[in-house]
Amino acid sequence: MHPPISSEQQSAWTSLVFPGAGTQEHFSPLDGSLIAALPKSEALDVDGAFEKARRAAQSWKSESFAHRKRVMMRFHDLVLEHQGTLLDVVQWETGKSRASAFDEVADVALTARYYANSAETHLRPEKRQGALPFVTQTRVHFQPKGVVGMITPWNYPLTLPLSDAVPALMAGNGIVLKPDAQTPFSALSALHLLYQAGLPEGLFQVVIGDGPELGTAIINNANFVMFTGSTATGKIVAEQAARRLIGFSAELGGKNPMIVLDDAPLERALEGAITASFSNAGQLCMSIERLYVHEGIYDRFVPRLIEEVRKLRLGTAFDFSYEVGALISAEQLEKVQAHVSDALERGATLLAGGSHRPDIAPYAFEPTLLTGVTEDMMLCRGETFGPVVAIYRVSSDEEAIAMANDTRYGLNASVWGSKTRAESVAVQIQAGSVNVNEGFTASWASTDAPMGGFKESGVGRRHGREGIQKYTDVQTIATQSGMNVAAPTGMSAEAFTRAMTTGLRLMKYLPFRK
Ligand code: NAD
Repeated sequence: MHPPISSEQQSAWTSLVFPGAGTQEHFSPLDGSLIAALPKSEALDVDGAFEKARRAAQSWKSESFAHRKRVMMRFHDLVLEHQGTLLDVVQWETGKSRASAFDEVADVALTARYYANSAETHLRPEKRQGALPFVTQTRVHFQPKGVVGMITPWNYPLTLPLSDAVPALMAGNGIVLKPDAQTPFSALSALHLLYQAGLPEGLFQVVIGDGPELGTAIINNANFVMFTGSTATGKIVAEQAARRLIGFSAELGGKNPMIVLDDAPLERALEGAITASFSNAGQLCMSIERLYVHEGIYDRFVPRLIEEVRKLRLGTAFDFSYEVGALISAEQLEKVQAHVSDALERGATLLAGGSHRPDIAPYAFEPTLLTGVTEDMMLCRGETFGPVVAIYRVSSDEEAIAMANDTRYGLNASVWGSKTRAESVAVQIQAGSVNVNEGFTASWASTDAPMGGFKESGVGRRHGREGIQKYTDVQTIATQSGMNVAAPTGMSAEAFTRAMTTGLRLMKYLPFRK
């Protein structure tokens, strides 16, 4: 049974949702119990939410970086202080293990601290080379976009809404967020803390309701859209944003490969494969779903992997006693089961797991390993987004690279082996992040470095300089002194052209300086 949530917490949730005409009850995937009823928004409410956020953003954009930093650092402390409640809420509304829920808390704290400290450096005006040496002074300014519309999925309901909101807020924007209607409570709980930390009233609005209806209304109002979700929905968002000529960033699906070379550190690679495949029961965009093992290590690696996967504890307690939690919904369970049964019917071999475990939780599914997966099977190329991994034997680095790249996705990859060899494989993988001797955490937690997808895994980047500058309009201010960039008074156009031509020839010999 879930731990009690205070009535103060419940009324805080309600007060943070933009009020709509109706209400909607939200239930836990763990036991079907009611978590709470929340206001249900419609498209018109989204317009109201934007108006409110826009008003608040007017003064927020004039606040100093030092002020915004103080708010974000207080938020960081509050998140760590109240992590017990946050973990309960995340588990209650997703069914994930407590360890996976803690990954979300840690990520929000990490991102809040990173952008609190770095926003000013990333966004301070930058000097650029001017049109004419000495007389043109050119600077680039980063102006907040206004109000950012955010649309987020259910799999990381704390991390994705908050960690992507942090840089948008630090850049001086307001936010209107539409979390997935299955999982609104984690974001609302953290937002309550963000307001306690000093965020101005109204700056961060939340609307909850139908995905396509509210999603479209968000795109119709936003100055920039931050979307995280499936590739199919990402394409709809891209089309709608294109019609308004607004910028967007889309973090989409993956079918992520791991390569184990024959000089990989075996025990570490085993541990890495398990964490990367079964964290959050595989409902993780960076999760490994394809495992390419070199024939030189295959017969030592795979039997040990099967042994370790069979030992994983599957459960949903509100403590750290289980490594793997349940899936979020009947829909997810159905999709995972369909992928596994289709593969088995078409001749794949089951090495571990493969079963639904209603004795543990309504949507619990065992960590599953398969081999003999072929092109005609759904899980060969389609994202399963569950605890299911297909294992392939490869005979060379080149074969592993070719197979890893043979996908429409390109979000994350992992390569295990001696450092130089693994790094040389890594640069040949077509993915936005590649982890060498790690599964996904090394690149994800390198918050100073950009993260995002190649190919159909996304457009734009989160994290680092790229993850905050995207929330700004880049403005060039060039100040001219002493003379205009034109022929001086009295000089003929012809003489000016000759002088310019000589000047251009000479400028070739000037060193490039920034
Ligand atoms: P989804 O695309 O179905 O939904 C994502 C969000 O979009 C939800 O809030 C949903 O209500 C909303 N939505 C639905 N229809 C919409 C529309 N027409 N216009 C605008 N918004 C709409 O995705 P999902 O099934 O909830 O999430 C799982 C997917 O998300 C997986 O493919 C996973 O790989 C991906 N994901 C990617 C990342 C990443 O960082 N790359 C992170 C987490 C999840």
